[in-house]
Amino acid sequence: MKKKIVLFLILIIALIASTILIYDGYLSPSSLIKINMGSRIIVWVITIILLIYFRNSNSKPQLVPSVLSNEKETNREKNKSKISFNDVAGLEEIKEELQETIDFINNPNKYKRMGASIPKGILFYGPPGTGKTLLAKAVAGETNSTFLYASGSEFVEKYVGVGAKRVRTLFERAKKEAPSIIFIDEIDAIGTKRNLDSNNEKDQTLNQLLVEMDGFNTNETVIIIGATNRLDLLDEALLRPGRFDRHIYLGNPNMRSREQILRVHTKNKPLDKTVDIKSIAKKTHGLSGAELANIANEAAIIAVRNNKNKINGSHFDAAIERVLAGLEIKNPTVLLKEKNTVAIHEAGHALVSKMLKTDMVQKISIVPRGHALGYVLKFPEEDRYLLTKQELLNKISGLLAGRAAEELIFNEITTGAKDDLDKATHIAREMVCSYGMSSLGPMAVDENYIKHNYETLRIEIRKIIDKGYNESLKILSENIEILHHISNVLMEKETINSDELDEIFKLYEKPFDCAT
Ligand code: ATP
Repeated sequence: MKKKIVLFLILIIALIASTILIYDGYLSPSSLIKINMGSRIIVWVITIILLIYFRNSNSKPQLVPSVLSNEKETNREKNKSKISFNDVAGLEEIKEELQETIDFINNPNKYKRMGASIPKGILFYGPPGTGKTLLAKAVAGETNSTFLYASGSEFVEKYVGVGAKRVRTLFERAKKEAPSIIFIDEIDAIGTKRNLDSNNEKDQTLNQLLVEMDGFNTNETVIIIGATNRLDLLDEALLRPGRFDRHIYLGNPNMRSREQILRVHTKNKPLDKTVDIKSIAKKTHGLSGAELANIANEAAIIAVRNNKNKINGSHFDAAIERVLAGLEIKNPTVLLKEKNTVAIHEAGHALVSKMLKTDMVQKISIVPRGHALGYVLKFPEEDRYLLTKQELLNKISGLLAGRAAEELIFNEITTGAKDDLDKATHIAREMVCSYGMSSLGPMAVDENYIKHNYETLRIEIRKIIDKGYNESLKILSENIEILHHISNVLMEKETINSDELDEIFKLYEKPFDCAT
């Protein structure tokens, strides 16, 4: 910055001097300054050179990624990670797997004596928010290494060679500050499979990354950790031994891990005795670590908003609802007629889900949130890894129950089932194409088959959807009084919780007949 100011001042002086010399030499009737023509030309040329240099220095593209651009200002300590494995909840087997890498960085000689070389690249893959960045920072923290973060998109540039230069700069810095961890987030932005029509700049960047990864010698303790949501998109060359050869999958946490993540994120928050972390973990099935962290934070914000000095269970419930269903619309302008349709629609979902025991219904609401006019909060009773064909069919019935209830009661259907139709069709498609659960038999369906037999597949998917829909219609018409009862309570109170729903069902329980 200082250099630029000095340059600017010199340029101004040169411009003034040049202008005076022009005025004096050509416009003034008698030359006042005794400088010959040769010297004048030199001053003008210098001014022009300065002007061009100053202009170029302003428009020069930035050649270093954000992690490196402030290299002078950032000292080594600033890039040290303070995160340790204690901050990463769950993921025990992954931490164990990484322990060896950590030991390698901490005691490199032990491995070098044996002739073992350091694993260069580790690739974390999995859905967003599952702790990939956090884990990479924790590896840096555990080894007291420099943590250099770069996002794959930072290397994507219009100008050929810029991305490659950035990769070189990043690796140079990592070597200089070794032991260090280079973390490249969204590595798919530069590492996707190369093909004939791929772009030249991207290929150069990827090639440079491959070259840099090969270029390490065993004395440099630099580990590259890549992260992606799409492992299947990455170029084979990137995944081969010697490069990113350790692939670690990070999925959404199971019930135990959710509980541990919630404990980590509530560690420094004042919790009321009513807060049951285990039950919150149960209610948050399918959520990522990032979403759980968000729930803990939202609960704290809601407690502050309510002027409480401790976070209680209802604050957590409100936070879960906020994260799962979206922001509550305060003054909705839903017509009474539409409200009635929404009440029947949501009552249909809740009734069929409860009858088929697909999920535990936690809450039914017709208060608009996000883009939904109503919603049913439900979660499975336990983590499931295998689902039977019947369970998938039941899920489809539960999803289509809103539309079925509308048809049954109003003899008319609305646009409110859009999301449900998408989800139900997705499950049916998977049953046909991936799980071999249709009359096509136990076979997987590839792209080629889909292309040539689209109509056959469409008929199979349709058959499954129809089966689920008809099952919904049957359950709803057999229990039409309960459907109306739930809908009436919703119209009156707008929300029903799980206990209230149980009470409604109890009213319609048939007394046990001792004679049979
Ligand atoms: P993306 O793929 O979108 O980049 P990511 O997998 O890198 O996501 P992180 O950025 O590591 O996700 O996680 C986001 C936040 O979620 C973390 O800062 C942390 O607060 C929380 N989190 C995720 N997993 C865990 C975990 N296992 N333990 C504690 N916190 C976690």
